[in-house]
Amino acid sequence: MKQSANDRMNAISEQGLCAGCGICQSIAGADKIKFVKSLNGYERPVIIGELDDFTVDRIFDICPGTRIEGLPENKLSPSTKIDKVWGPWHRIARAWAGDEKTRFEGSTGGVLTALAQFMLNDKRVDFILHVKASVKDPTFGESYLSFTEADVLETGGSRYGPSAPLINIDEILARGQTFAFIGKPCDIAALRNLAQYDVRVNELVKYWLTPVCGGFMAPYSMDSFLSRAGVARKSLTALRYRGQGCPGPTRVETAEEVKEFHYLDFWGDDESGWHLPFRCKICPDGIGEAADISASDTWIGGSPTREESKDDLGTNAVIVRTAAGLELFEAAAKAGAITIEYDITPDDMSIYQPHQVRKKYAAHDRHQGLGDQGRIVPKTDRLRLIELADELPESTRKLQRAGTRARVRSGKATEPKPEEFE
Ligand SMILES: Cc1cc2nc3c(=O)[nH]c(=O)nc-3n(C[C@H](O)[C@H](O)[C@H](O)COP(=O)(O)OP(=O)(O)OC[C@H]3O[C@@H](n4cnc5c(N)ncnc54)[C@H](O)[C@@H]3O)c2cc1C
Ligand code: SF4
Ligand code: SF4
Repeated sequence: MKQSANDRMNAISEQGLCAGCGICQSIAGADKIKFVKSLNGYERPVIIGELDDFTVDRIFDICPGTRIEGLPENKLSPSTKIDKVWGPWHRIARAWAGDEKTRFEGSTGGVLTALAQFMLNDKRVDFILHVKASVKDPTFGESYLSFTEADVLETGGSRYGPSAPLINIDEILARGQTFAFIGKPCDIAALRNLAQYDVRVNELVKYWLTPVCGGFMAPYSMDSFLSRAGVARKSLTALRYRGQGCPGPTRVETAEEVKEFHYLDFWGDDESGWHLPFRCKICPDGIGEAADISASDTWIGGSPTREESKDDLGTNAVIVRTAAGLELFEAAAKAGAITIEYDITPDDMSIYQPHQVRKKYAAHDRHQGLGDQGRIVPKTDRLRLIELADELPESTRKLQRAGTRARVRSGKATEPKPEEFE
């Protein structure tokens, strides 16, 4: 029997594929889909009434849970180099914000904040669309428009909770003003997908910037962190995950007290402590291939040590992927908005980000494992996933595929039907 449009829409969340970008609310309209906190603590698309097949087909084409593509072909130029793991690039360099305060406030070296400020000061865009801490629930991030340097500074620092920058994208495009978009790689993928249906996107979005992203903290894991910290979620008045140093403290605030923790108290001392949403475990692009510029940390092995992070001022690794990104990066350096330390290579990126390399190689077989279990298999293109998988030993490929099958069978890749929680 043919699945109803509502069931197909709910399947994206129920099969653990929702990345939480919020764009489906804008596609369907807020009278049809409300993107709100659901029973399992994530924000999820809750359907109001009946959806039609046309809308759900459109969502499947744009949702980054179901479709993730690399850089649009028309953004490649004869001078673009393509690394098998790290994707398109013109230049890769270590850098930080030229202004000391911006470097301090930023997540790593404040390069994304500094570039956003430079774009506003240089009148390249009318505003920046990105996220900042939610006032309602400080563990979440929320969509935010910055019009001034001071606005931008308030958003600095990674948000490691659910954050939906695209929830109001239709309204934002309707302003008819130019902007730069800073979002996670999955958010970038969603907006690039939307560009194929909405001409306003390429007319108005002048720059696409992203943090390299290994995934965010699942709400159940956030709850256990808060419980270890001895703080009830409801009494939180502010939460800063990192920034104000590199990585800077994880700062938890209530009306009565402020508690600070090390980044490693939050994430754990190694990758085994990273409790990520299922979608992040099968992510085929945590490195932001479709952006003009991706920025990451530069800790060897992917995590800081407690000793080295004491006086780390913060240095980003910056992958400049397009001609527009290169012009922006070099103009910002010339104006002193950022300081470029020295150029590096894709091999250096692999030293800083071994977890991204492993995930990129594994993505194709993990997706095959979903297909084996009759699950939705995300459509991917221009990410070289089969080529990478083909380089792995057959035994590793089998393990990755079987591992995903086992996850699906054990319920670890299943979520409840989205339902508004509060
Ligand atoms: C979920 C997540 C996972 C990450 N995983 C990795 C990783 O695997 N490897 C690695 O090297 N670094 C990772 N980072 C951190 C990343 O390295 C830094 O954010 C990046 O280096 C940029 O640093 P910056 O100092 O230039 O950023 P800043 O100057 O602090 O600017 C950060 C910008 O990102 C936006 N932003 C912050 N959080 C979110 C969010 N959740 N969703 C959308 N936009 C957001 C802010 O609005 C701001 O514009 C992750 C960040 C996030 C948010
Ligand atoms: S990933 Fe985005 S578009 Fe897809 S279901 Fe989740 S919120 Fe909607
Ligand atoms: S790991 Fe992938 S799906 Fe998860 S938040 Fe990062 S870019 Fe999005």
